[in-house]
Amino acid sequence: MKIIKNPSRSNWKEILARPTSDISEMEKVVKPILEEIKKSGDTGLDKYCQKFDGIGIENIRITGEEISRSEETISAELKSAIDQAAINIRKFHESQVIKEKEVETMPGVTCYRKSVGIEKVGLYIPGGTAPLFSTILMLAIPAKIAGCKEIILCTPPNKKSGVHPAMLYAAKVAGVSEIYKIGGAQAIAAMAYGTESVPQVYKIFGPGNQYVTAAKQLLNSEGVAIDMPAGPSEVLVYAGKDADPEFIAADLLSQAEHGVDSQVVFVTIEEDMIQKVQNELTIQLENLPRKDLAAKALENSMSIFMTDETNAVELINSYAPEHLILCGENADEISGKIINAGSVFIGNYTPESAGDYASGTNHTLPTNGFARAYSGVSVDSFVKKITFQKITEKGLQNIGNTVMEMAEAENLDAHKNAVKIRLSKLTSNG
Ligand code: NAD
Repeated sequence: MKIIKNPSRSNWKEILARPTSDISEMEKVVKPILEEIKKSGDTGLDKYCQKFDGIGIENIRITGEEISRSEETISAELKSAIDQAAINIRKFHESQVIKEKEVETMPGVTCYRKSVGIEKVGLYIPGGTAPLFSTILMLAIPAKIAGCKEIILCTPPNKKSGVHPAMLYAAKVAGVSEIYKIGGAQAIAAMAYGTESVPQVYKIFGPGNQYVTAAKQLLNSEGVAIDMPAGPSEVLVYAGKDADPEFIAADLLSQAEHGVDSQVVFVTIEEDMIQKVQNELTIQLENLPRKDLAAKALENSMSIFMTDETNAVELINSYAPEHLILCGENADEISGKIINAGSVFIGNYTPESAGDYASGTNHTLPTNGFARAYSGVSVDSFVKKITFQKITEKGLQNIGNTVMEMAEAENLDAHKNAVKIRLSKLTSNG
């Protein structure tokens, strides 16, 4: 990790730059896939499923029997861990469902807002080396709570043309409606446009490689809703006095092992902590099976010494990390000053891994500085908020002049007339 001491404010942007990737090359590959599937449905989908994942379209849908069979192959311990995580995630996300009150803004003028689940949503879960069953829980549980009626899941098949049994179990626990063994841009296209075999959805969620990301972004520019812009995962760990360098190194590595493009940042006001953490990183890295990946990610990463807490907090807010771990003295107090972060982990005994899997919060979070304006996935991501209003005769008499005055000033006579015509009838009816 690069070591930077007390950087001047004018350099913050430059030293905290994220590793960038140009997706224009990906778009050239992905665009024809989207266009073909839009035009020919299953025919195009079959072509790309065969080409990239060696599976024919007739075999993409997972059956209930397949789910039951694979459930028998998972250990009781893993099942019970998934069950416990699901309980915690459900409990936390259920607390986000708040019934808003009806409000009478003037006598006879009543307004209210209702959250309604998006009817059909699509979840993409990447393939690769890690079977991301935790992401299935993080997306499908809030979708179910929100009241989404159809929850479609796409994930590429593994080398044996199957799906990891823990993913199927998590999908069952979380309430996924249908699972398809489709990966990449073709999965995103199938869910966005719908084909004879795959139902169309109204919003697409989930991480994936650059083809998946490019497909989501291209479709988003056509008006298909997506969860949020995705980028490589990142963590910033802040350490005050009494933080533990072993814990800090473990947290930095838990993020670095995600992939070579992950970024980890360590910020401290205790100068000697930088070397202590560096020593711990060297020791712990040696024992990690994914040490090559993690070591590469550390090359994009930095340790920053700041002379005081106030400046350190400003630097953190300026970086807007996806994950922020605050440890050592004052962690609670500092947490109250955080205005830009995806998810915050407070105190020496709150590792990010707890939030990644099981404490209850969501792990699908804004990366790449988007935490300045975006939130992580929650029940809100799966609903539309519809407003309703009802005005009585008395209410229209109360609000009528206000509306007519404003409509006239905007030269919108038909707007004014919609009120005037009603008020005239009320007057003539006595
Ligand atoms: P994936 O499911 O994202 O992609 C697999 C698909 O890529 C294949 O089904 C195929 O359709 C497509 N593909 C492969 N080569 C292609 C080519 N040459 N042209 C067109 N399409 C092609 O799985 P993966 O590739 O193993 O990657 C997993 C990804 O998920 C990683 O990039 C990882 O960073 C990402 N990930 C991100 C997060 C996050 O954002 N927080 C979390 C977990 C995983």
